[in-house]
Amino acid sequence: IKMQNAAAGECVKVVVRCRPLFGKEIREARNQIVDCDVRRGEVRIANPKTPEDPPKQFTFDGVYDHTSTQKEIFEGCALPIVRAAIEGYNGTIFCYGQTGTGKTHTMEGKDEPENERGLIPNTFETVFGDIDALESANKNFLVRASFLEIYNEEVRDLLGKDQTRRCDLKEDPDKGVYVKDLTTFVVKSVAEIRKLHEVGKKNRSVGATLMNADSSRSHSIFTVTIETSEVNEGEPAEDAHIRVGKLNMVDLAGSERQAKTGSTGDRLKEATKINLSLSALGNVISALVDGKSSHIPYRDSKLTRLLQDSLGGNTKTVMIANLGPADYNFDETMSTLRYANRAKNI
Ligand code: ADP
Ligand code: MG
Repeated sequence: IKMQNAAAGECVKVVVRCRPLFGKEIREARNQIVDCDVRRGEVRIANPKTPEDPPKQFTFDGVYDHTSTQKEIFEGCALPIVRAAIEGYNGTIFCYGQTGTGKTHTMEGKDEPENERGLIPNTFETVFGDIDALESANKNFLVRASFLEIYNEEVRDLLGKDQTRRCDLKEDPDKGVYVKDLTTFVVKSVAEIRKLHEVGKKNRSVGATLMNADSSRSHSIFTVTIETSEVNEGEPAEDAHIRVGKLNMVDLAGSERQAKTGSTGDRLKEATKINLSLSALGNVISALVDGKSSHIPYRDSKLTRLLQDSLGGNTKTVMIANLGPADYNFDETMSTLRYANRAKNI
């Protein structure tokens, strides 16, 4: 177990992306307290309350500043995991951070212009581009997609017919942990998978309105599964070797502490559950990178149970910690940097 975890540790990468100040922050003449050293992979943060103190410094596997492009993030963070998934390995990409720091911008981006597209649409292009190039008489690919959200520790199928249905998690000795009756589509092209992504995004916001909920409080997981069937030269088709790789793209709920927003009642209960799965995720990743833990606490939340087969072991994980640069976010930015730092392989 120890060896396996040590290997897993090397497969967890943590990077930071800091967005530019946006319009309102510029108009309010906010100070920037985050300084990114892209070349050295370092982030420095100054405390606006104690400007005489030296800034705190953190080191990561990668640092992307306000000038970083969607393409750079995709090539640096996602491409190796996408390629591994095509070769039959599981992988997971997370965006973590306070609401408004660019998680959805990083994952989804804007459709147009093309260079504003985020990790998910870029992944679609790569998957089908690679498959077209690799497919042959002896080698066939089958791509499947599903899209779900976890809200209040309940799973919703974003591609299902009935958006009021709650899905159960099941465990099977062969399949592992899976979502019972989750809608999964076979997709043949970029256009088809993009359409599914659109439908799911729409269902997500419709559901949020119906439930009087806020999608920044839910975790969404878009999963692409790539099955390869390969026949060796001269062997019959029924002897085909099957490989399956799975790629999860996770836009996590906002990590902000809820005290600031004065939550009570249902909202507070919700907040506790969000914090539960984010802290469970932090514990799982830190146990994986630590390499010395013999127990990985996957069972502590729906999120970590569901992603169990795509975190650790023979898989690749990237955590993108999204930050805002402005002074008024100091506490939240500091807490994101600490979370990301804990998830890092030292
Ligand atoms: P989150 O999903 O973390 O709540 P969003 O992705 O919705 O945050 O981003 C909040 C706002 O900031 C959006 O208007 C988004 O377009 C903008 N934004 C985020 N990151 C960047 C970036 N790297 N460059 C330009 N604009 C960004
Ligand atoms: Mg968002």
